[in-house]
Amino acid sequence: MTTLFISDLHLDAERPAGITQFLDFMESEASQATALYILGDLFETWIGDDDTNPGHAPIVAALATLKLQSVPCFFMHGNRDFLIGRRFATATGCILLAEYEVLVIEGEKVLLTHGDLLCTDDKPYMALRAEVRDPRWQREFLAKPIQKRRAIADDLREKSQAATAAKTEEIMDVNQGAVEAAMRQHDVSILLHGHTHRPDVHRFSLDGAAATRIVLGAWHEQGSVVRWDENGFVLESLQR
Ligand code: MN
Repeated sequence: MTTLFISDLHLDAERPAGITQFLDFMESEASQATALYILGDLFETWIGDDDTNPGHAPIVAALATLKLQSVPCFFMHGNRDFLIGRRFATATGCILLAEYEVLVIEGEKVLLTHGDLLCTDDKPYMALRAEVRDPRWQREFLAKPIQKRRAIADDLREKSQAATAAKTEEIMDVNQGAVEAAMRQHDVSILLHGHTHRPDVHRFSLDGAAATRIVLGAWHEQGSVVRWDENGFVLESLQR
């Protein structure tokens, strides 16, 4: 029995290959799994559960089908789809997770997070994050008409792309001190996250004990998945 972890699919109707790959993955592999964990940025943008973007319908339907197949699906917000709410959860059957969650899997304690919270060197991003995660900002944003929200989201995305282009690779990666602090706080030796789009398994020493940080990749050119069963975990890419 295998538990699956994915993140950073950035699904967008303008990139149908990614959606097709996700739908195939849901039908073939996820339907056979013990559980599916989506660790954020399933969607490229999410401006509210009331958005009737037709590109989202097959994705919501695939998640609802998984629920009918009795495979539990857990969803954690990313920096792109942090506005996913209860209505989405009801429509899909996904269980919404907090920004940090500890999961015991095959006897191992694993800390799950999207990953953006660990990128503490990126000060402008952390400031923006604090602003848009504020419940009051979200209430005001969600009260605006869809068209207006879309315009704001497009503008934020353009600004983020421009800012990203001007930042060094190092600034946009996780901060090792933040990684270790989060692991200590949650008393784990394994951390699993996405966000940085740098799939890898990092092994290091944390307070004298062996520690592991697993990073899921994005789904831009290929898929990325962590499969976890009684033999442990593997991080693999999914060819298109
Ligand atoms: Mn992200």
